[in-house]
Amino acid sequence: MTGPPLDQIPVDRLDGIGPKIGERLADLGIASVQDLLFHLPFRYEDRTRITPIRQAMVGDCVQIQGRIVDSGVETGRRGRSLRCLLRDDSGMLSLRFYHFNRFQRQKLTGGALLRCFGEVRYGRSGLEMYHPEYRVLSSEDAQVPDTLTPVYSTVEGIHQQRMRQFVRQALALLAGSEKLPELLPEALLGDFDGIDLAESIRLLHEPPPDIKLDYTGRSENSPARRRLAFEELLAHRLCMRRLKLDAGALPSPRFSIEQELPRRFADSLPFQLTGAQRRVYREIRRDLAGEAPMMRLLQGDVGSGKTVVAALGALLAIESGFQACLMAPTEILAEQHWQTFLPWFETLQLPLGWLSGKTRGKARDEVLQALASGECKLLIGTHAVFQEQVQFRRLGLVIVDEQHRFGVHQRLALREKAGALRAHQLVMTATPIPRTLAMSAYADLDSSVIDELPPGRRPVNTVVHSNSRRNEIIERITASCAAGRQAYWVCTLIDESETLQAQAAEATAAELRQALPGIRVGLVHGRLKAAEKSAEMEQFKQGETQLLVATTVIEVGVDVPNASLMVIENPERLGLAQLHQLRGRVGRGAEQSHCVLLYQPPLSDLSRERLGIIRETSDGFRIAEEDLRLRGPGQVLGTRQAGVAGFRVADISRDSEILDQVRDTCQELLASYPHLADPLIRRWIGERSHYANV
Ligand code: ADP
Ligand code: MG
Repeated sequence: MTGPPLDQIPVDRLDGIGPKIGERLADLGIASVQDLLFHLPFRYEDRTRITPIRQAMVGDCVQIQGRIVDSGVETGRRGRSLRCLLRDDSGMLSLRFYHFNRFQRQKLTGGALLRCFGEVRYGRSGLEMYHPEYRVLSSEDAQVPDTLTPVYSTVEGIHQQRMRQFVRQALALLAGSEKLPELLPEALLGDFDGIDLAESIRLLHEPPPDIKLDYTGRSENSPARRRLAFEELLAHRLCMRRLKLDAGALPSPRFSIEQELPRRFADSLPFQLTGAQRRVYREIRRDLAGEAPMMRLLQGDVGSGKTVVAALGALLAIESGFQACLMAPTEILAEQHWQTFLPWFETLQLPLGWLSGKTRGKARDEVLQALASGECKLLIGTHAVFQEQVQFRRLGLVIVDEQHRFGVHQRLALREKAGALRAHQLVMTATPIPRTLAMSAYADLDSSVIDELPPGRRPVNTVVHSNSRRNEIIERITASCAAGRQAYWVCTLIDESETLQAQAAEATAAELRQALPGIRVGLVHGRLKAAEKSAEMEQFKQGETQLLVATTVIEVGVDVPNASLMVIENPERLGLAQLHQLRGRVGRGAEQSHCVLLYQPPLSDLSRERLGIIRETSDGFRIAEEDLRLRGPGQVLGTRQAGVAGFRVADISRDSEILDQVRDTCQELLASYPHLADPLIRRWIGERSHYANV
């Protein structure tokens, strides 16, 4: 076993990885072979078995194998589709493709032997699979894999199969454990002593077929997973401890207690601040006048008015001669903040700056210049604000919106922008986090909560309906639009690929356009270019489109008060927190708003209970607590794609019982083995602690 340790081997040594793929992997935080090994799957698929078609149940993800007995192109409500009837010894099922090319049509003809993997649905011709993954076989008994198939989070340009192939190569290099040293001494491993690190990594990438999966494809809670989660949580806690210690090492900007600007701003608003907004603003102001840098988490339900409070904070900074920066995780969200702040700052005659990855050329030079000179008082943007060329003259306050999309590591990067001072930080999230979790996940942050909605808001009336009532629901859209209001139709897909999500949304938009000829239908999904996306959003905002079909990209931040109806398809697939967020897009105006959860029957008992909670309450904290209690697939923090607070294996709700051990071990490690902190942080958080995907 010779050769360098795996963290010293760059990934581009592996077959199939050139500079271009290397760059994409870097976006995922993968630079070395070790990083690749720590890029753990977030769910699995069982392809070790072939399910007889007769046993395939609606809602199951299964692998089937059979011959095509008939195929042809059909035209239906959702447009043209290629339908192939597949038969095995036990029964028949249709495969349906809304997107297909001539080559596929030629291959998928009568007689072809196919192995398919996909979700069984109930469609026009009975049991169907939409866009299954498939392979044409040459013999009946082509081998099946003997381990479960991992599904990784990935980026455009690297599909699952490739990612799996890269990881397989990395696993082959994992032969000797000295290449992946055990960092934790036995004394610190506690219950996890005896569970080998390298072996755990291997098990998580290639689990044996006999482990149990829940219906979202997550594995049962194996000792291997827990051992890794423990180490990861430990690394995060060490990182947060470091943040807190570092924070005290440099002075923070002292803000004056004058409040001329905030006062003028509050007076210019057409409403009174709520009691909760005023209380939280006081908490922020106290921090900002203190010696230590503020590190505060601001939680508040969608629509509770966090942005106004953030603006007050920014104005305090500006009044004291500092600059502020507001960063949002997506272009759409950042853009929305920009639209909100523009009139506010115009009234106060303060210059604003905008920076996203798309800002180029002269516009970019100008904003960089204005930041460096101090002329620009508030910068609003995406994580492009991390870029090295971005230099502030006097950065005093950093506001990060929707924190759960960012990890702790990105907070590190931003503070470095403040130069010799430690900028104050305000982190805003609309995902309420149960108190116990907040203390562990954000151990370095103080917490403020806006627990009161502005007056006059009426809770959204939520109903749960089966998809068999689809036509009736479509009728409701007509009625709503006829009354001058607007509606959202949200498409969800369990698949993590943006392409498939986009296709589903396109198909639905086509269906709805056909069913609703008098209604102007817009469409947004993740595959649109940023400019197209904002154009679509703008049209909806202006009322030019009446119905907006969207994937969950509209989840956060979008604010169109005239929209009073939202239909969410397959809500049973989403986490409660995510559903709550989505629903928060309506109920922003004076009209009574409605939300229709349109599920695909049959509904499991757990799903029924979960949807029932959404129907009953609009209290985000209660929803978060229930989510935690049910430990459903929708994690309490964050979305499945983004991973939970940037974790690779850990899941704060699932691992809540080891949090105490993590805390104690952290203390012990710092006391007796302080030299281990760095390598652990590097292994789990790594280079991500210095830059995001700009
Ligand atoms: P959040 O960011 O918490 O989801 P926003 O700050 O976007 O909420 O506020 C939602 C809407 O409520 C905005 O249109 C905002 O102008 C309005 N708003 C904020 N505070 C109040 C208030 N105290 N009274 C009435 N409306 C308010
Ligand atoms: Mg907001």
